[in-house]
Amino acid sequence: MPGLRSTGTRSSMSESPLALTVGIGGRRWRVGSEQYDLSIPLAFDGAQPAFFGVAPAHGSVVRAGSFVGDVREGGSCNCATYVLTPHCNGTHTECLGHITQDRISVHEICASALHLALLVTVDPVPASATTESSDPRPDAGDMLVTKQALQDAAGRFAEAPFNALVVRTRPNDEAKRARDYSLEPAAFFSAEAMHWIVAAGIEHLITDLPSLDRADDGGRLTAHRIFWNMRSGHTTPTSAARTHATVTELAYVPNEIPDGLYLLNLQVAPFVADAAPSRPILSPLTPL
Ligand SMILES: [Zn+2]
Repeated sequence: MPGLRSTGTRSSMSESPLALTVGIGGRRWRVGSEQYDLSIPLAFDGAQPAFFGVAPAHGSVVRAGSFVGDVREGGSCNCATYVLTPHCNGTHTECLGHITQDRISVHEICASALHLALLVTVDPVPASATTESSDPRPDAGDMLVTKQALQDAAGRFAEAPFNALVVRTRPNDEAKRARDYSLEPAAFFSAEAMHWIVAAGIEHLITDLPSLDRADDGGRLTAHRIFWNMRSGHTTPTSAARTHATVTELAYVPNEIPDGLYLLNLQVAPFVADAAPSRPILSPLTPL
């Protein structure tokens, strides 16, 4: 991001303890040595989250002539073919290319990987308990992440120059790491919440939900469209589209990480595709 540069000692992220400081938004911050991984490790053929009824990610041993890619079967090395659907099988980052005719790659969008992130925890509320809404109108029992909840959670950090937001939703049990969202429909973001996120200058949004939108929304993708500033139904971005912005879904934020400000290292697999598996890492920041 503009204005972010590392000027610390010659520490690498693998050395400990770190003595790293960064300049962000005209302020200096000390980067803590802890690194919190917000990704759900993808266990091929193991327990995984599942969204939209898509087949689980799976692997198969490569077999070619006399070669077998499994040491347990006498092969010289392990070698497998892996099949996955990034949007549905685990933690992934996506870009505007998710909803455009043009093939826009998340690999190009995520060139700048370090950001100032605010982590907040919110309680989704039933649609019947809020005036906030979306398109199509939520069912009364749908659970919404609201502008009100985000505003309340972010309030004491409002002055900080963060450009990334991590939204942890409650309840936040470990079962989220392997939830089948066809059986347990997820909460989603209200239109008001998304307008607030854009107005707050958020360029990288990370959430533990499988989608910003309701899984079955008639193809509207209202929350995604607000985030990328794409009009309803349009598949070609205008110059006003937020082409640099990314969404990360199906993350998992362990309960022991407190709300607050962090240095976000958003690591995205270099797929030439609208979405790719990703690993967001947070390190605590202290203003100097
Ligand atoms: Zn997605």
